[in-house]
Amino acid sequence: TQARIGVTGLAVMGANLARNLARHGHVVAVHNRSHSRTKALVEEHGHEGVFVACETPEELVAALERPRRVLVMVKAGAPTDAVIDQFAPLLEPGDMLVDGGNAHFLDTRRREAALRERGIHFVGCGVSGGEEGALLGPSIMPGGSAESYAALGPMLEDIAAKVDGVPCCAHIGPDGAGHFVKMVHNGIEYADMQLIAEAYDLLRQGLGMSPADLADVFAEWNRGELSSYLIEITAEVLRQVDAATGRPFVDVVADRAEQKGTGRWTVQIALDLGVPVSGIAEAVFARSVSGHADLREAARGLPGPAATGGTVGGDFAEDVRRALYASKIVAYAQGFDQIRAGSAEYAWNVDPGALATIWRGGCIIRAVFLDRIREAYAAAEQPATLLVAPYFADALALAQRSWRRVVATAAELGIPVPGFSSALAYYDALRAERLPAALIQGQRDFFGAHTYRRVDRRGVFHTLWSGDRTEVEG
Ligand code: NDP
Repeated sequence: TQARIGVTGLAVMGANLARNLARHGHVVAVHNRSHSRTKALVEEHGHEGVFVACETPEELVAALERPRRVLVMVKAGAPTDAVIDQFAPLLEPGDMLVDGGNAHFLDTRRREAALRERGIHFVGCGVSGGEEGALLGPSIMPGGSAESYAALGPMLEDIAAKVDGVPCCAHIGPDGAGHFVKMVHNGIEYADMQLIAEAYDLLRQGLGMSPADLADVFAEWNRGELSSYLIEITAEVLRQVDAATGRPFVDVVADRAEQKGTGRWTVQIALDLGVPVSGIAEAVFARSVSGHADLREAARGLPGPAATGGTVGGDFAEDVRRALYASKIVAYAQGFDQIRAGSAEYAWNVDPGALATIWRGGCIIRAVFLDRIREAYAAAEQPATLLVAPYFADALALAQRSWRRVVATAAELGIPVPGFSSALAYYDALRAERLPAALIQGQRDFFGAHTYRRVDRRGVFHTLWSGDRTEVEG
């Protein structure tokens, strides 16, 4: 039998995707640079479906039906280029090379253009859901040509997560579109995690609650509008007790958050596109701050407020829950703005509603909430920002007072909440009648003759600041 698809790169992600494909009845040819991984996969999981173990790229290519489909699941960066260079000469026009790794979308655009010249479809494909998702159903974001999606899509839809019977996989758009949206997905994930961490910190310090009690709070929140994978696992992590010391697990873990790069890329690209993704940026910076042992050590003795935790009155937990929801809406709204800006910049025609649909399941940010985003973008007129879509505008209005109380309380207690407070600042900036940007324009005109516009007349103006301070048309 000829294999329907080949997978090269059999570390956790590749092996689990290959097993998922085999379990769905697809004959899968498998290959890895070190053959031991290939052998181990077939020995341990061969009974789950039909695998064709291949020792070389040539063998893998020979095992495939045409047009060939090769899924590359190797370390992102130079290894991906090395593997492409190995396989491309063995492929023929019409064949498909799929990169399921976390590639930078600009690399994907470069690779796609180079392979297109040889008639090979290069599909930059975002895959989210981690190890378990890869095996049981990830969220899949393939870019590339429509033609390649016609040949690949059904198989990917087979192995994707399903929500209400709808697969969490859709063609995103040409060349780098799939990897771009996966990047922003990860950026949103950073923001969501940071906000949850701030909520935990507020409740722990503000109310003096224990991790075990907080696990119950998050489990309870997971039954309402915040219901999501990240809230669910937060409860699990908080409930965990360290076997060695008997202390709460969160108290024995070093408080330095690491990162692999997709969050940072999201912010870098947002700056280039001119999209304010302050929630994602604050999340990336907060991880960075946590990792700066030198700065933290030097500043540890600086004074803070006299008020200590455990003293907050009112229904602070409910305030925090509402503030978390409002801040989360802002972070997602900003992420979707970035996707729309990227789509416009690169002419991808990404459908934000379709994206929200495939993020409802399989991926790390999966949540009930994504259904509301899908609905917002399904409206006859697309909202300029999700904040003004009726459902979200109502939710923000409802959260309003709690949100402000939480940010004010955090400032009083000296609890850092960059995510909550920047989200509120963004909300207030967007809704402001006038922003102090007018003053900034004045300053720029003063020192650099950068000119300004007026509210009452068309044209560009400059004030002769070092002269008689009259205004001239610039
Ligand atoms: P790793 O990122 O750890 O990569 C290991 C694999 O890459 C091995 O198969 C290794 O082969 C292969 N490899 C490395 N360098 C080369 C090279 N020069 N030539 C050929 N093969 C090479 O594996 P993961 O399974 O964790 O991830 C695979 C991809 O999926 C990555 O791009 C990752 O970013 C992405 N991803 C990972 C997720 C996760 O949760 N882990 C989630 C979503 C995407 P060998 O065995 O011979 O060393």
